[in-house]
Amino acid sequence: MTDATEKRMAQRKPRWFRTFAFRLNLWYTIIFTLSSAALFVVVYGLLSFTIDRNDREVVQARAAEFAAVYNTRGLEGLRSYLRPLERHPGQERFFIQVVTRIGTFPLIVPPEWISVTEKELAPGIRAEVPYLRIPATAERDLTVAQQTLRDGSRLQVGRIAQSRDRLLSLVRRLFLLGMLPIVALGFIGGAAFTQRAMRPIRGIIKTVSSITRTGDLSQRVPEQKTGDELQELAELFNRMLERNERLIRSMRESLDNVAHDLRTPLARLRGISEMALRDSHEDKSREALADSVEESDRVLTILNTLLDVAEAESGLMRLNREPTDLCRLINEVVELYEYVAEEKKIEITKVCPESIVVSADTNRLRQVFANLLDNAVKYTPESGQVSIRATTGNGKARIEFQDSGIGIAPEEQPRIWERLYRADKSRSQRGLGLGLSLVKAIVEAHAGRVFVQSHPGKGSTFTVELKQ
Ligand code: ADP
Repeated sequence: MTDATEKRMAQRKPRWFRTFAFRLNLWYTIIFTLSSAALFVVVYGLLSFTIDRNDREVVQARAAEFAAVYNTRGLEGLRSYLRPLERHPGQERFFIQVVTRIGTFPLIVPPEWISVTEKELAPGIRAEVPYLRIPATAERDLTVAQQTLRDGSRLQVGRIAQSRDRLLSLVRRLFLLGMLPIVALGFIGGAAFTQRAMRPIRGIIKTVSSITRTGDLSQRVPEQKTGDELQELAELFNRMLERNERLIRSMRESLDNVAHDLRTPLARLRGISEMALRDSHEDKSREALADSVEESDRVLTILNTLLDVAEAESGLMRLNREPTDLCRLINEVVELYEYVAEEKKIEITKVCPESIVVSADTNRLRQVFANLLDNAVKYTPESGQVSIRATTGNGKARIEFQDSGIGIAPEEQPRIWERLYRADKSRSQRGLGLGLSLVKAIVEAHAGRVFVQSHPGKGSTFTVELKQ
């Protein structure tokens, strides 16, 4: 990342009120407050309804009772029925009157009703509604029930109830007072919640910005064992960092190795040319030119093989697939190495059934077998054994190259497939460290696999598996 991009990113850092955490917190508070308000509205409505129904039931029950008395015993009967009620001052006192065609007959009119009867009650009562509620004072409401009697007259029964408004306004005030701590609680709860939720994301931001600042690829996001998506995100992120680090490290090493490996032949090339320039003898010049061609070939081989590996790894290698007889190919390759093996007194044995035919690029596969046999002979001391075995099974062809050579240390086994990697013990032998990476790339381009089993000092077995 360039400095300018980094600076732009730093400038783009959001202000606190624009942060995702703040917005999340705000939403949390709003939803928390709205839910509390909705709950209050429901409770308020229920309370108001219950108060109303309660008052109505009490006064309507009494009205029904007195109407029944009137219907059976008449006005006088009701009057005498009510007499004991008047006499007990401790009891709740009802307002009772009968309105007939002739006139209005008040039966019980408690003192608190006298002042309100005419002015406020009369219009409502005349309207023939079954139930009426009239606020009398701040503390009290008048509730009146009406019943039509058998003779067409109307019975009106009133009662003084506690003011509904007063009760409800108390609840309203309580709510408004309570809302303040509720909003504060919502905000604090939201802050704690977002703080927790954002922790892994903040961890990722911190790690990424630290990596871009310092270039240190070994840093990782702290993982919390919560088992949720954020833990998954942190784990995935760390896995990605791990892969990137490995990739970049191997790229760096490859580049170092390439530079290192090209330096020797180029230095030699330069030396040879310098010597030839100083020495004007024609024979010497020809010899120097021949040496130069050899060294240039070496450089070209390194570069070509590197390009081949890169091509095969990126999936761009064009495979000229054709039916290929593996046993014939093995015979060809063994013939090539017979002379070198003989010189080292190494015996090469091969076990191959009549014919195993696979669809493959014959020339590329020849390169694979040649590299594996070359290594087997190269890394096996004098008088050793090399055997090649081809078998089939489970729809696969398996070709094993077994040797009784120096073997490969377990910690080096995963690395031998890397470009230009050479194990310490093999430095004395000729080689570029590119053979196995080419083998792997070609086999994998054929959708096959190659692996090694090896014991240092005892020998190695390289196995190639190809689909039949
Ligand atoms: P090189 O040109 O060094 O042979 P390769 O890519 O073919 O490069 O092999 C990489 C390394 O793997 C070698 O340097 C050697 O250390 C190890 N190696 C490969 N084949 C064998 C083998 N048959 N026995 C022991 N070591 C082997």
